Amino acid sequence: MHINHIGIPSDHPRAKSLYIRGMLVNGFRRGLVVPEGLIAHGRGEAYDYLIGERTTKTAQRAIEAAAATMLLSSRPVISVNGNTAALCPNTAVELAKVAGAAIEVNLFYRTEEREKAIKTELELHGAKNVLGVGSKAAARIPELQSERRRVDPGGIFTADTVLVPLEDGDRTEALIKMNKKVITIDLNPLSRTSRAANITIVDNVVRAMPALVEAARKLSGTTSLKKITDNFDNNKNLQESLEIIRGEVQ
Ligand code: ATP
Ligand code: MG
Repeated sequence: MHINHIGIPSDHPRAKSLYIRGMLVNGFRRGLVVPEGLIAHGRGEAYDYLIGERTTKTAQRAIEAAAATMLLSSRPVISVNGNTAALCPNTAVELAKVAGAAIEVNLFYRTEEREKAIKTELELHGAKNVLGVGSKAAARIPELQSERRRVDPGGIFTADTVLVPLEDGDRTEALIKMNKKVITIDLNPLSRTSRAANITIVDNVVRAMPALVEAARKLSGTTSLKKITDNFDNNKNLQESLEIIRGEVQ
């Protein structure tokens, strides 16, 4: 029996789920994740259980629409929070490269210390120019209060498309009001974020991010991008996710 570096036996029936939890706890200890982030993950886990802890065909369609949208955008930005930095720093950086996107640290519970820790983590995984940290986050999202609204004038503020994995509903709605295309990764098809976004990938960020990298790689330079985005209907896609949860479709 193999026991990995965070002490989870590989033959445990819930090994993968426990391993992901371990990554978050590890991120918490390293100052990337806030305690509230651990609770948010718990909600995500419950929905993951219900969709069968796999990337469904429905999610794959959203992933392809998301990749096509990012490739068609002139200023795409990937917004990274603590949970995303703890769970998939490598694929966030890779996606930025493949899709020609900028990376911005954007926190709900904002401290400069945590911003810097996340920036360092992304740089360790090869990020060159991490936006949104400290005084760089000098622009404001209208309609949001206090520190939650600060964004980088050269990043999210002027982006045409923003990928916001595990985002809060208020902030998603505010970005939509600023006329940005919003792509989210959210296991809960009922959340305000899922409903407000233009493209919702109902999948675990741990599976969705590498799948997004692969889709962007596959679609890059092809002529079918516009067709893929035109054919995507987010409401229909969310409805299908609910049918999967109810066990009505695979
Ligand atoms: P909203 O504000 O959009 O209504 P909420 O208040 O219920 O949602 P938040 O904590 O604001 O929840 O957002 C976190 C979202 O991220 C939740 O919907 C949760 O299900 C989802 N989530 C948590 N962990 C993961 C994960 N690993 N992969 C994908 N989604 C996740
Ligand atoms: Mg919320």
